[in-house]
Amino acid sequence: MREIQEFRNEPPTDFTSAGNRRAMQQALAKVSGELGRSYNPVIGGRETEGDGTFSSLNPSHPSQVVGVFAKAALAQAEAALRTAHEAFGSWSRTPARERAEILFRTAGLLRERKHEMSAWMIHEAGKTWSEADADTAEAIDFCEFYGREALRYAADQPLTRIPGETNELQYVPLGAGAVIPPWNFPLAILCGMTAAALVTGNTVVLKPASDTPTIAAKFFEILVEAGLPPGVVNFLPGPGSLAGEGLVKHPLARFVAFTGSKAVGLRINELAARPVPGQRWIKRAVLEMGGKNFIIVDDTADVNAAATGIVASAFGFQVQKCSACSRAILTPRVHDEVLAKVIERTKALRVGPAEDPESAVGPVINADAKTKILGYIEIGKSEGNILAGGGPAPGEGHFVQPTVFADVSESARIAQEEIFGPVLAVMRAKDLADAIRIANGTDYGLTGSIYSTDRGAIDKAKAECFAGNFYVNRKCTGALVGVHPFGGFNMSGTDSKAGGRDYLLLFLQAKAISETAKA
Ligand code: NDP
Repeated sequence: MREIQEFRNEPPTDFTSAGNRRAMQQALAKVSGELGRSYNPVIGGRETEGDGTFSSLNPSHPSQVVGVFAKAALAQAEAALRTAHEAFGSWSRTPARERAEILFRTAGLLRERKHEMSAWMIHEAGKTWSEADADTAEAIDFCEFYGREALRYAADQPLTRIPGETNELQYVPLGAGAVIPPWNFPLAILCGMTAAALVTGNTVVLKPASDTPTIAAKFFEILVEAGLPPGVVNFLPGPGSLAGEGLVKHPLARFVAFTGSKAVGLRINELAARPVPGQRWIKRAVLEMGGKNFIIVDDTADVNAAATGIVASAFGFQVQKCSACSRAILTPRVHDEVLAKVIERTKALRVGPAEDPESAVGPVINADAKTKILGYIEIGKSEGNILAGGGPAPGEGHFVQPTVFADVSESARIAQEEIFGPVLAVMRAKDLADAIRIANGTDYGLTGSIYSTDRGAIDKAKAECFAGNFYVNRKCTGALVGVHPFGGFNMSGTDSKAGGRDYLLLFLQAKAISETAKA
């Protein structure tokens, strides 16, 4: 059997190279010719009817239909979960190496079609080139990393030995479950949760986010091409409130892996905790939710690096990352200088359609999101001084100007609530201790950074900032699989640490077997 090399992160594509730019343009042209196709739910390897249809639209050009989907409802959710439950018997007994090889083949196919997958994200999620490329690279990483991790969990586990007994610990899968991803990392997170569940021997009903089902359909096609048997993953596009809840409430659901908003995550947590007739287990809920992330800049910081880090963390993918910086907390000596540099860099960002490589900031995901974000900007006008942006940006897409508010109080709504759009609240802190207090003063606890050159300040922030992912002298976005296991505290979720060495345990249970030696 072929030797498996040590895990390495997929490198980002260098779009300053003419060849890479041409390759991406070709992929965009290919995908443009495939827009508007129809897709169905797939249960047990067979396409099934839905209950009506829905379409996904291009947020840069909302009149452009990306995919048309037969809409799964309760009946399809029931059939899909039953099918996954039936497939569990043989899949759970499939050797770990065979399951891992499917992920390695999936990674290979994703790599071959890297630009094509990114092009789908550019069209359907409004990701800029580099953001889409990073999303595809992360999906490849998840397949490679979890494939290796599954083999580690399948190997002999270390136990204390005693005379007269042979003891072993086996990690066994949970059963059939639901994977419910968000639209904002429409390939990476969807792929990561699905890959982790299936490589550990579980079976899955995958309900994609309704804004980005085409990317999910393309990933599902790749899984099938990589050799995944029918029924192991079932594809169920449909509304979260119907198909999603149908899965969560179902007695055969053994687990729910969810990434999305706090409100929906809490509802799933509640529904999953309530036993229903026919249910024989406590459902396991893996929930990754929102954030209100911060960057602290202290009096000793490199102000240029800090301003660059704030703007990149805040406005990359329009603040539609769970890890995005939406609060900059500045101490007195650097406040004015960092703020001025943030404003200058923000105003220089070019807003435009995602397919244009010159666009630094693309559209927000849909019309409702735009309305909600503009509503928060109106709220912000009474909560702070608006120094950049402040309204819609021109163009047919769902464009919003990157917006910066200064002198925002820590209790303001724009400093407390997840806006999930290009709005940054800048706050003054009295000193480092005050900055840390402000940073920790929301319901969330996902990511944060400090910019400082003072070792004592850095150590204090490392010890006291309550965030699942904390960074020093770098931006608070861009976690890498295997390098920065990702997941948050408090209302940011169950701290599942995606891309880390504990993650697969969430999809496993441990069976201890003890055999006495013959008398
Ligand atoms: P939502 O919570 O709106 O939706 C997430 C998923 O849940 C979608 O597939 C959605 O389906 C589904 N869903 C909606 N309602 C229900 C329900 N009642 N029962 C079951 N499923 C349901 O989040 P978004 O898609 O808008 O994603 C953005 C959010 O995700 C932000 O809050 C962001 O911070 C968070 N996020 C967190 C990450 C983390 O690692 N902590 C990473 C990435 C994002 P449908 O689309 O059909 O409504």
